[in-house]
Amino acid sequence: MKYKFCPKCGAKLKMRNSFDEGEVPYCEVDNIMYFDLPKPCVVVAVIRDHEILLMKQSYIYKDSKVLVSGYVTVGENVEETVIREVKEETGITISNLKYLGSDVIPPAELLMLTFMAEYVEGELAKSDEVEWVDWSNLEDALDEMKEDEVGKRVVRKVLKEIGYIGDK
Ligand SMILES: [Zn+2]
Repeated sequence: MKYKFCPKCGAKLKMRNSFDEGEVPYCEVDNIMYFDLPKPCVVVAVIRDHEILLMKQSYIYKDSKVLVSGYVTVGENVEETVIREVKEETGITISNLKYLGSDVIPPAELLMLTFMAEYVEGELAKSDEVEWVDWSNLEDALDEMKEDEVGKRVVRKVLKEIGYIGDK
């Protein structure tokens, strides 16, 4: 997001040279530069044997299942975000996080940090934000995630990680 006014004091920002970033909006009152930063969020494929945790959230995709995802909040590291989002949205505990790389959705200014993780314990107990959550067969996941392109790329990486041999 390109800032025009200071979020702290409301003053109109002026452009100022920041050396390595070029011209950046700047508040003279607060002496702060407002860099054009993406919003970091996590996407995680939780694995239990040959199953993967999928959810349905119509406000994201109407007719598609998705992986667990959420925004990184101020003060937590990315691994904490992954563990917290899975616990909040599905009620289960995970471990053995493995980073699978990043992806971007430019129009939404999202920087998506993707992970796989292993189920440890807990019964599925979805939050109110989630319409449906359950384990799906890993091999069927790509078909069930029709609209979730980022999620599908994550699942393909998971299949590669676990050495799945097939045509998906
Ligand atoms: Zn200001």
